[in-house]
Amino acid sequence: MEKNPSGWLSSISVNYPCTILAFRSLFFSCLDHFSGASSRYAPGMKPSAIRRCQGHRNFREARVREFFEYNTLHSPRHFNIRFRHTMPNSLVQYFRCPQRFDLLAWRDEPTGESGYFRFGNDSTCFGSYHAQRPSAFPAGALHDALDEVVIEDGKVHLPFSPSQVLEHLQRESYVGEWREGPLSILSQIYYFLRPALTVPVRRHLQRLYLSNWKELSFPSWPVDCSVNNLMEHLLLLSLRASGEKCVPFIWFWPNASSSCAIMTHDVENQEGYDYCSTLMDVDDTFGIKASFQVIPEERYMVLPRLLEEIRGRGFEICVHDLNHDGHLYKNREQFLQRAVKINAYGKQFGAEGFRAAVLYRKQIWYDALEFSFDMSVPNVAHLDPQRGGCCTVMPYFLNGILEIPVTTVQDYSLWNILHDYSISLWKRQTKIIMEKHGCMSFIVHPDYVKHPRQLLIYRELLAHLDRLRRDSDVWIATPGEVNRWWRQRAAMHLVEKGGSWLIEGEGSERASIGYAKEAEGRLVLSLDHPSLPQSGITSGTAHATTRA
Ligand SMILES: [Zn+2]
Repeated sequence: MEKNPSGWLSSISVNYPCTILAFRSLFFSCLDHFSGASSRYAPGMKPSAIRRCQGHRNFREARVREFFEYNTLHSPRHFNIRFRHTMPNSLVQYFRCPQRFDLLAWRDEPTGESGYFRFGNDSTCFGSYHAQRPSAFPAGALHDALDEVVIEDGKVHLPFSPSQVLEHLQRESYVGEWREGPLSILSQIYYFLRPALTVPVRRHLQRLYLSNWKELSFPSWPVDCSVNNLMEHLLLLSLRASGEKCVPFIWFWPNASSSCAIMTHDVENQEGYDYCSTLMDVDDTFGIKASFQVIPEERYMVLPRLLEEIRGRGFEICVHDLNHDGHLYKNREQFLQRAVKINAYGKQFGAEGFRAAVLYRKQIWYDALEFSFDMSVPNVAHLDPQRGGCCTVMPYFLNGILEIPVTTVQDYSLWNILHDYSISLWKRQTKIIMEKHGCMSFIVHPDYVKHPRQLLIYRELLAHLDRLRRDSDVWIATPGEVNRWWRQRAAMHLVEKGGSWLIEGEGSERASIGYAKEAEGRLVLSLDHPSLPQSGITSGTAHATTRA
């Protein structure tokens, strides 16, 4: 019962001639078109809502197919190498633990239709499953795959491929194509009329569109940690299979920080542009440096003076879409044309990071973006027009780009959709993310925060983050710093020398060794060696039962 060494995707049409794939793609597109599918489906809808969404499944299956086929067509060489290298090693990639602790195995590569199942009480998974048909919907009682895990001969035998699940969640391939059919027409009408609509009318339309958000059970609100919980469950099972007391790993953040936080400002209009300097003053009051995402075309003139000020004061510049018209991902041809311009602006502005307008995204097209990191994928997108979410609070790699997901509610949604003029939801979200040692990322717009009431709340948030930095060792960094660290950590190695563990690689002087051990049936992540009395960072996280 050995793991397939070539990776689960290697068996899927990797060597098909391009023409056959193109034909298949066209066929499925036509099939989906004529099925009358509605893109109002979003993951996690209650069954009553699901019934209103005839055809959503076709869309989701098409999205999964598209994901495979796109990669096969556009990067066949890299595709094979990339997945052979990374797919079977998801545990090692996530924890940066020694390879010998990755004891996961699955009989054959699971094939068949993908669907939803659970892994423990706190992780919803999406993928194909051995000898079972997973659920078509994330709602209701899902089958718990943890019950079928067997530890035998020093291996953890799973009924699914964790790498496949990880890919589906992080790349959101479980969501149907969202802007198809009727919504595509509505969206075109909306964006055509948008310049003529007053702000109150726009807000009303947005609220109307998002009104069903409470019906969504997946991803879980207000933060979904399915990926993080899955990885912790799997590490606990591997620890049990290894027969050892603990698993050493490279701690998530530099200088033994417990978690990380980033502040980002999307500059929407001239008003926001004019407020950037004042906003830097506000951020500086709390010793917090942020990134400013600027729109290169149409909204305002991006003058070198502002860029120099942002850089000179230790803040960062990222590119925010091209012109923010909502059509970046309308079709592949237009996207490629725009990507050329966006890349050129990135170089001109000295920007390493990108964020699309309105958190629109199509992750399978990111190969055309020449940026080091992206910040367009929400953790849970219930309050965003494009639903879904990557279900993780950790950065992750999308081909060459590092994705730093948006893990907290945006200021606009908090104030205009939820009508919440407090920081209580932000505090709730930071607490959940910190339990997973994740990255808290915030979007606060200069355009909205310039008003006295909103500014007061923003100052409260900054004070809260400052407290977390002092009392809980949270690392408050810029997105660029997170990107550099996460890349360094991904290249570091834990090596055993003379009976103890050492971290090798660039930046290792800032890295710390974490230890994962089991306590009362749960995985505990700590910076303390298990033989020492405990102090400092600790988290009780995964609880898993196996038929060991
Ligand atoms: Zn924007």
